Parts: sequence; C-alpha cells; structure tokens
Amino acid sequence: MDKQIIYVDGEYLPREDAKISVFDHGLLYGDGVFEGIRVYNNKVFLFGDHLDRLYDSAKAIMLNVPLSKDEMKTMVLECCRRNQIKNGYVRLVVTRGAGDLGLGPERCPRQTVICIAANIALYPEECYRDGLKILTSPTQQMNSAALSPAIKSLNYLNNIMAKVDGQLHGMQEAVMLNAEGYVAECSGDNIFTIKKGRITTPPIAAGALDGITRGCAIKLCEHIGTPVREANLQRYDLWVADEIFLTGTGAEIIPVVEVDKRMVGDGKPGPFTRDLISRFRDLTQQSGTPIPKEPLV
Ligand code: PMP
Repeated sequence: MDKQIIYVDGEYLPREDAKISVFDHGLLYGDGVFEGIRVYNNKVFLFGDHLDRLYDSAKAIMLNVPLSKDEMKTMVLECCRRNQIKNGYVRLVVTRGAGDLGLGPERCPRQTVICIAANIALYPEECYRDGLKILTSPTQQMNSAALSPAIKSLNYLNNIMAKVDGQLHGMQEAVMLNAEGYVAECSGDNIFTIKKGRITTPPIAAGALDGITRGCAIKLCEHIGTPVREANLQRYDLWVADEIFLTGTGAEIIPVVEVDKRMVGDGKPGPFTRDLISRFRDLTQQSGTPIPKEPLV
C-alpha cells in the first residue's frame, strides 16, 4: 500500500491527517459501536451480515448512524479501493460524536464515522497448523442485563482484561464464563466443541457475540451434514472435548489443542476442524462483494 487513506466523517484523508476530537464520546465513554470485516481476494466477505450487525448494535444503544446502509456500503468499498486492499481487514467505527463532557448523548449533535482499511492478518500460519493453547479467564463475561455482549460496542475493557489474563500465562486466547458458570465465548472469538461427533457452541443468550464467522461455521457444518447444537457448555465440556475450534473475523476458524493445561484430543488439531478450515478458506476465496476498480465517489 502506498499511503493509507482513512475515511473520517465524509472525507478520505491520509493517515496522518485522520483525526477525531478529544471530546468524542467514543473516546471519553466508549460510546459507540464497531465492526471488523475481512477482505479476501478483492472481495468484502459476508459484508451484508456485518452491516446488519453494525446497525443492530447502533439501534440497541440508540445511536443514529448518519449514513444509510447503502451509503455505508459504498463508502467501505471506496475505502478499500483507494487503499488497494486485496486481502485485508476493515475496521468500521461509529461513535456518538464530539460533545461537551457529561454522559448524555444529546450533547453530541453529529455522530462520527470512521473506516480504516488495512492489510493485516491476525494469527501466524503455525497457529492453524499446530493449534492454540487457551485458558479460562477469571474475568467473567459481562452480564446481559448490564451491557449485552451481543452489542459490538466500543466497551471492550472486559474482553481486554480476559485477553490479558491469558497473556499473563502465555496463552493466545481466554475463555470467558458467564455469571452462571457456563462458557460464553473467548475474548475475541466464539468457541465450538466436538465430542463423539457432536458439535456444540454456546447460545447467544449465554453471553456470546452473534459472530458472523460463527454463523458461517454453523452453515458449513450443516452443509457437511453435522448440524451444530446451541447448548450451554461448562468448563468440564472443554476439558473432555475431542476437538475445539474458535471462530472470528480475525482468527477465521482456528483449532485449540489445550485448555486449562488439559490436552484437547491427542493435542493436535482434529480432522473435523482441519476439514472445516479448508472448506472455510475455499468459501472466503469464492464469495464476497467485489471491490470496484473505478471510483464510486
Ligand atoms: N466474540 C467477540 C467478543 C468478538 O469481539 C468477536 C469479533 N472479533 C467474535 C466473538 C467473533 O465474531 P465475528 O465472527 O463476527 O468476528
């Protein structure tokens, strides 16, 4: 990429000029929502699903998105085009906007929209080949009656604390339990187990984000003829699983080979997970919304 171009409130700016106010409530209070979207092979992957979730998150926190879905779509595609993204990651952020100090959203007359399109990949290839080691974090998942984990909001501190819990023990991801002690999700990924050929993932109501990659994995499993069961899981279920994998826009589908120092299966990525990863990779190359060659705006 020659020079990174960032979209901020209607303008496509060079990276060094892309700035927002120190009074932005996204910064001051974490008041806003976001999306992480992948680009594969010049196409934006599962674009419609990500836009739907962004607008649902915004609706849930009563945040007005100043662009229609069509306008947002055009802007993201144009941002990818200007940055010549072939394979990359798009971060879309909508904040409450700049306003005086004080929690009230009415202080912010104009919402802020940011789009960063970058060429990045999250985990190195050996993580997919050898699998991840994870642990259960002592940091509990946020209660759905507080800030629902289904909202992809700018309040990620809880997840960051869980991630740090993992990092302190040399682990790349950490499982979060809900107040009942059931598995909710990982700090930035959804989780699936396979036991005796049965695939299970926690329901959204257990405190999980309705992950777009989770949905894609569920459809792929159905297609293979192994439907996924959405049911509560306990730590015990992770400890005795034959296979475990995580799903996320950044992580894609990634095997887990150790949980809480217990080996998963034989300690190597299992056959079902490996097959699913290969099917998922095929899908990412085939489907998506093409990035245009000519300017859209
Ligand atoms: N859970 C959390 C907390 C996340 O932040 C994410 C996104 N990185 C996911 C799950 C996975 O969701 P998706 O597949 O839509 O990226």
